[in-house]
Amino acid sequence: MKNQENITLRRTIQSFLQGFQALRKDNGGMFLFFTIAAIADGVIPYVTIWFSARILEELSTLRRPEVLWRWVILTVAVTGGLEILTKLLQYAVNCGQEPFPYRRYKLLSDKCLALDYPDLENTEVRDQLAQINQYANWAGLGLTRIPLIYFNFLSHAIGTISAVVLCVGLFLTRVPASSPEMAWLDGPLGILALIAAIAVPTLIAPWLQDKVTVLSQNISFADAARQGNRVFQAFGFLSHQMHRVLDIRMYGQQKIARHYMQKENVFSADGPFARLDKGKGGALNALNAALSAVPTGAVYLFVCLKAAAGAFGIGMVTQYVGSVTALTGSIRGLLEDISLARNNALYVDLTMDFLHIPNKMYQGSLTTEKRADRQYEVEFRNVSFRYPGTTQDALHNVSVKFKVGTRLAVVGENGSGKTTFIKLLCRLYDPDAGQILLNGIDIRKYRYQDYMDIFSVVFQDFKLFSQPLGDNVAGQRQYEEAWVRNALQDAGFGERLSELPDGLNTQLYRDYTGEGVQVSGGEAQKIAIARALYKNAPFIILDEPTAALDPVAEAEIYAQFSQISGDRTAIYISHRLSSCRFCDEILVFDHGAITETGTHEGLLEQHGKYAELWNAQAQYYTEE
Ligand code: ADP
Repeated sequence: MKNQENITLRRTIQSFLQGFQALRKDNGGMFLFFTIAAIADGVIPYVTIWFSARILEELSTLRRPEVLWRWVILTVAVTGGLEILTKLLQYAVNCGQEPFPYRRYKLLSDKCLALDYPDLENTEVRDQLAQINQYANWAGLGLTRIPLIYFNFLSHAIGTISAVVLCVGLFLTRVPASSPEMAWLDGPLGILALIAAIAVPTLIAPWLQDKVTVLSQNISFADAARQGNRVFQAFGFLSHQMHRVLDIRMYGQQKIARHYMQKENVFSADGPFARLDKGKGGALNALNAALSAVPTGAVYLFVCLKAAAGAFGIGMVTQYVGSVTALTGSIRGLLEDISLARNNALYVDLTMDFLHIPNKMYQGSLTTEKRADRQYEVEFRNVSFRYPGTTQDALHNVSVKFKVGTRLAVVGENGSGKTTFIKLLCRLYDPDAGQILLNGIDIRKYRYQDYMDIFSVVFQDFKLFSQPLGDNVAGQRQYEEAWVRNALQDAGFGERLSELPDGLNTQLYRDYTGEGVQVSGGEAQKIAIARALYKNAPFIILDEPTAALDPVAEAEIYAQFSQISGDRTAIYISHRLSSCRFCDEILVFDHGAITETGTHEGLLEQHGKYAELWNAQAQYYTEE
């Protein structure tokens, strides 16, 4: 990232407008409410000042009760009305369809969903996203700050205009001829002295503030804070985490946590932030606070001298002192808003860069017609693929055709390319060479979502939600109960389901409620398989789905596998070869290539890689 010192006003405005547009997009109504709320917020203090001046004027002159009553009622009605209007509008904004914090998360989440999968796996992209969130969490930097700056800037701008309107009379009303010794107050000397006493501290204050902000939010500090937050996240809540509680108690790990929290933390009492506050940063802040008293003193002096000379009455003293003091506050606010926007620019750019990462993978437009006969045929034709940043092909010159409705096993040692093969089939990556064809057409030409609809994959590291069982299987709140039950039954979860008092409404896990059921790894895997079955896609892919199952459950799933896949094309990835005997065809992967294909018996007869692996594993299963 660049240094903040180099950010010009033009760049500040450009970056602000970009962030503003991103937040405002599809959300114009909210910003209109927000704008009106900011205008009302800016004008309220001056309305109060003006009405108070009228009441004091009447009190110090004629004291007519009916006039006083009228002013009091008007003051309460107008200021109260404006306050209510502001709060209602803010409430509408905060409770609207997309309040700004939600909108920010949604922009990032939508982008994560839309990114090409290789980008999502890319460590630089992941780090970019982590940085965006960490800067936002640390100091509300980035898009989070845009609504605040917008609201404050508008409110301060309206405040400045209102203040000028209310205080202009201070300079137009002249000292009467009866007080010639005070006539200098109307002359250039008096006016210049007042302006200087107000302007100098008012202009210096935001500059000082900016210095402190630049010091505390410069990139090295921001990075230190980001790192500090990471450490805090990692070690600050260890004892809150259920999955760590046992290890922590067993090995007294809280000592390590305390060390990182107290000694090696940038936020500790002798860390860089504390040092800044104790030193230069603290001194600048103190000077800033002291200077802010100067304009107020100067205004009181000037206005009171002019009133004492007989230029105006007590009511106008209130109005002028109030409005000039508030004017300095508004101008100071405006300058601080610009400084905030300037310091925020780099962080907005970071977010915008992330949101603008282009989709490089070709997006096709063909639909995969929903075929009742499920006659889909997939062919890998001389496919090679290498992961970005690596020097060896993960798949090399792979050619294979799947027959519809077959049970296909993909076997091979760890790292031989089995999962990569599935990732390419699901178009998470595109091949570097060769083609993957669906019914004779390159899969890149299909609309991605349509293409994905024909696959159900149970990934090795699948995740379930802490939600009711039925919702997990169906992936939605409304579902056909019988279908979900069938899917669970087929996946081998039927008996367990019948024991659950709340059936499909059983909450999984205890993240949100003590009522939740803590399912075992094997049970979770069955639920994940049921979810894949419920989707009822023509291709069902199980990527080492039995790894967490006990041997009995594993044997059960193997035996049922053929039956539960029904008319689907089932692709089964495993390094446990005993499962393959149920499959019509076995692809043997070795170092990224398919080296053998055939049935279990056929492959054993070949005495090749498959036979070698089989014999190596068979010794662990005496019955085999
Ligand atoms: P298998 O599923 O057979 O265990 P994989 O398909 O996962 O094997 O891996 C094939 C090869 O590609 C291995 O050498 C592995 O280290 C490498 N690989 C897998 N995923 C990635 C990745 N995201 N980035 C870089 N290399 C990878």
